[in-house]
This record gives sequence, structure tokens and C-alpha cells, in this order.
Amino acid sequence: MKAKKNDILIVVDMQNDFITGVLGTKEAVDILPRVREKIKRWKGKVIFTRDTHQKETYLKNSIEGTRIPLHCVKGSSGWEIEESLTGLVKDGETYLDKYDRFADPMIAMKCTGIDRIEIVGVCTDICVLATALSFRCAHPDIGIYVDASCCAGTNPGKHRQALEVMKSCCINVLNDERMRGGRNDIRAAENVSENKTENI
Ligand SMILES: [Zn+2]
Repeated sequence: MKAKKNDILIVVDMQNDFITGVLGTKEAVDILPRVREKIKRWKGKVIFTRDTHQKETYLKNSIEGTRIPLHCVKGSSGWEIEESLTGLVKDGETYLDKYDRFADPMIAMKCTGIDRIEIVGVCTDICVLATALSFRCAHPDIGIYVDASCCAGTNPGKHRQALEVMKSCCINVLNDERMRGGRNDIRAAENVSENKTENI
């Protein structure tokens, strides 16, 4: 589907700490070129989100602080959006800092008059999932798309699980490897049944 001006691309938390920093993964590094291409080609508005914490309050006052190592401290290099993506930022694109939250519901509430939302970024099973669901709750009847090839989870298993949950919530998952595998499986199954028919 070709993006229009009133289509919004949300690039979730593509910050150094989630790519090469304290919470980085090989998968997050791997998706970078595809995220870059996606942003370059996008015709509509682009919103970047930044997970943002304050060192002083993170460990004391946040639930996240009891479970996840300190990350994305405001003003640190780990908090910055990955350098090759910031070069793609054009006028009118927005940065939104999310303080101690998985997804700011206000982002979804403020986005009105749109036809289609596409979401990419990290982590599939935390902030991408939370963002997709907050949009699904705020806008029950718009098309919400998540490009699986431009998302990375805290690990590959949780990435997959999160995609499945999103599909359950009527979110369209693009470039889903399992779907491609599934179609092959269906073809294989059809061939088997054709062969069986021939044998009969
Ligand atoms: Zn965080």
C-alpha cells in the first residue's frame, strides 16, 4: 500500500541503548538498514518516540526500575536516537519523550484525522506492542500496521509472541516471516494432497 500524507509512521525507541547499549540486541542492529529505508521512503508524517528516564527516580520510583537495568537516561548517549536515523529527520517531524511509560496513550489520542498508522522499532514485545495496542484502543476502526522486518524484540521468541498478540487484536503484521513460511507450508500441503489424489 502506498503511503499518503495523512499516514503516520511511528518509529519506536530506536535509541542507542536499545540497539548497541545496555539493552541492545543483534536483532535491533540487523533491522537498522530496513528502518532507515522505511523512513526515507515514507510519504506521510514520521513520529519518533524516545524512552526517557531520570536516573534519580528510575530505581526508586518506577516499576520498570525494579525489573529492567537503567537505560535511556535523558541527555545520555544511550538516550539519543541512533545517529543514521536522525539524519533523516525533516521539518515537521516530531520527537516525543515517554517518561517512565511503555507507551504514552496521549500520542494515540492526539493523532486524529489519519487513515493509517504504521509502527516500527523496538522492542516488539514492550513498546511496539504497547504503542500498537494504545492506537487500537483509541482508534478501533483505523488500519494499524506493524512491519515485522523493522522490529526487534527483547529476544526472537518474544518478538514472535508479540506479533501473534497483535494479530489477535486486528493489527496487520507486514513482512511476517511465519506468514511467508505458512504459505509455503500450505503449498506443500496442497502438493501432498494432490499427490495423494493422484495415488488414489
Ligand atoms: Zn524504559
